[in-house]
Amino acid sequence: MRPFGSVISIDEARRLLSEHVRPIARIERVALADAAGRVAAADVTATIAVPPFARSLMDGYALIAADTQTASRSRPVDLRIVERLYTGQMARQRISAGTCAEIATGAPIPEGADAVVMVEESALLEPPSAGAAGGTGDRVNIFATASPGQNIGRRAADISPGDLVVRRGDVLNPSRIGALAAVGCGVLDVYARPRVAVLSTGNEVVEPGTTLADAQIYDVNRFTLSAVIAAHGGVPDPRRPVIDTIEAVTAALDSCLSADVILFSGGSSVGERDLIVDLVSERGQMVFHGIAVKPGKPTAFAIIGEIPFFGMPGNPTSCLSNAYILFAPFLRATARLPVFAPRTVRATLGKRIVSPAGRHQFYTVRLQDGSAFPAFKGSGEITSLSQADGYIEIPSDQNTIEEGAQVEVTLF
Ligand code: AMP
Ligand code: MG
Repeated sequence: MRPFGSVISIDEARRLLSEHVRPIARIERVALADAAGRVAAADVTATIAVPPFARSLMDGYALIAADTQTASRSRPVDLRIVERLYTGQMARQRISAGTCAEIATGAPIPEGADAVVMVEESALLEPPSAGAAGGTGDRVNIFATASPGQNIGRRAADISPGDLVVRRGDVLNPSRIGALAAVGCGVLDVYARPRVAVLSTGNEVVEPGTTLADAQIYDVNRFTLSAVIAAHGGVPDPRRPVIDTIEAVTAALDSCLSADVILFSGGSSVGERDLIVDLVSERGQMVFHGIAVKPGKPTAFAIIGEIPFFGMPGNPTSCLSNAYILFAPFLRATARLPVFAPRTVRATLGKRIVSPAGRHQFYTVRLQDGSAFPAFKGSGEITSLSQADGYIEIPSDQNTIEEGAQVEVTLF
């Protein structure tokens, strides 16, 4: 056994991690259809107006507002329809005094017209003759006065040429994807998603889907970690488990050096076969090893070459807990994604909790009828997490929380 060099606080671990974040610089070009959730790597400026033409905001009649000055229900104004305008076509006729065009929502406003009266404020005098192209000669009664500009969406009302549509660093949420589509942007530059090599160590660890031999267990961490990576802006690059020899672990590490971040689990503690310390001293620079946190004390962070390296605990709940609390924020910053703020709820503690002194504990709980009940079984039990709704934090200087206390639960 080799004791931990020096165990640091959770705050110190967070500080050291944020000090070592290098936001990704690699850029790739993606189709707009693939851009959701990505981060813009350059400003996008509009080259067109949106809408590109003045258009009707209503189904109704495009007319000259001055023609309707005397219009009312009892004394409608009678206008001659010179054209019927649908979307996707320009008008052929100019609107002059005493005339109008029937117009659909979204169709271009004809020359001469300066207002649209909605169909509810009109009545056709003669129904259009079947198949009439243009409907010339049909007449319509207008029952309301119109003001200039009424029901017209002016050209560039939304976006003008030269407007900034998205800024470098913006996350492309659905509305920004919509704005890019509106200006006709088909492809754009985004920051690459960090590639994260994920690998489990341990003689006993085997692939799910194979048959367990004596003394073997299935690899859990590779799958939990890959899921966290994908959820927080990274691309998991999962590897097969490797056995606990320095040769095997070193060879595995060397095969991961094209990744942006490396995430090993297991062997990060202080036992004979816990190789991560040896591995890092061989290949890199240890930043910290051991955090005063429960679960998840045996967590190492190092820089190997230029690559951030996490040595996560083998215990599945320790591993995943630190993946949420320490690794996910690091990955998001690397991916240039904003800080993730999980939802919290207030609850009454349904049962007294005892927490070890000197370690900041993330204690998992189940929520039931407004109360929080302990869900934590142990660091090795994945059900400590999978059967929990969230966790409460118990600072290192606090030992117990009494039944009935109000607690804040951070939801997964
Ligand atoms: P270690 O951190 O390697 O000392 O492992 C601590 C405990 O976690 C041991 O009981 C291991 O068998 C178990 N463990 C290690 N890696 C994994 C893994 N990838 N999946 C599930 N359990 C693991
Ligand atoms: Mg192990």
